[in-house]
Amino acid sequence: MRCARRLGASVVEPHARWRAAGSTTGPVVLPPTGRLAPSPTGRLHLGHGRSFLLAWLQARSEGGRVWLRLEDLDRSRVRAAYAEQIRVDLEWLGLDWDGEPLVQSADEGPYAAALEALLRAGHAYPCVCSRSDIAARVDAPHAGDGELHYPGTCRGRFDSMEAAERATGRPAGVRLLVPAGVHSVVDGVLGEVHEDTAEVTGDLLLLRRDRVYSYHFAVVVDDGRQGVTEVLRGDDLATSAVRQAHLQGALGLAHPHWAHVPLVVDREGRRLAKRAGDLGLGELRERGVDPRFLVGALAASAGLLERAEPVAPRELLGSFDLARLPRAPAVIDGEGPGAVPLATVLRAAGVDLV
Ligand SMILES: [Zn+2]
Repeated sequence: MRCARRLGASVVEPHARWRAAGSTTGPVVLPPTGRLAPSPTGRLHLGHGRSFLLAWLQARSEGGRVWLRLEDLDRSRVRAAYAEQIRVDLEWLGLDWDGEPLVQSADEGPYAAALEALLRAGHAYPCVCSRSDIAARVDAPHAGDGELHYPGTCRGRFDSMEAAERATGRPAGVRLLVPAGVHSVVDGVLGEVHEDTAEVTGDLLLLRRDRVYSYHFAVVVDDGRQGVTEVLRGDDLATSAVRQAHLQGALGLAHPHWAHVPLVVDREGRRLAKRAGDLGLGELRERGVDPRFLVGALAASAGLLERAEPVAPRELLGSFDLARLPRAPAVIDGEGPGAVPLATVLRAAGVDLV
């Protein structure tokens, strides 16, 4: 979390309930609505399984809806086989969802319309800078995680996308004007999360120059149009909530309730990744592991069970409580609260992975 500067901080409070778009007559009560939003760029691992289990429980324990959304706009990284495997893995875990999955790439119209609205309202502007243009700027410090600070080169420079491309002979992307200063959101697990986005990343990229909509932009548009009120995901995305709150503000959307949960790590403290070698849900499934053992292990790591015992997600609905979630990363086969007793699961399933 970046907490360096608190001066001028403004806190974004989530709405008690979703307010209908354009409504000025007070909050409109909509059912609690969560989403499972995997990206089909690799296999699901235990960390995904834990986050999706908790996201599902959060919405379902309030009698709410759950959407499945495949975030597949970056086609260069997406594989169709992963999309199918993700659906099978989630069903294997015992999670379900309402209606048909939303596949982002199936219709980009909603993103185009939202982008056009932001451009028209002056909340966003065309940007013709390439990554190497930005990296070459001496006043562009690295923001970490491979992210570059965008210094605002194209702010106020062009009247339209067409004008930008005509004047420079280069394809244009689009960036959101980010307000200066520290901004905060309220998180159900972490408390207040703050970031000076203008200082960390600069104006946010909404549309890349190769015509791919950015992760932040697509997520906010989809959460808005799907009426998502509950966003639970890994805490590596905690400061993303501040960035997404900027976008929701510009689009006139209400803010959902955010909850960022600690990640699952191995005993060396490394985050699980989609790389080979980290145990995938698919691998456990193919080895014949009873998913109820795995759900029990994940539930125990989240403080929902005293010890790992076989259980289906539905049986946990009555005991779901974010307040019981350990604040430390969930260590696979580690010690103490928050540990994921995977060895127990595998022993019970008669699986020897070593
Ligand atoms: Zn630019």
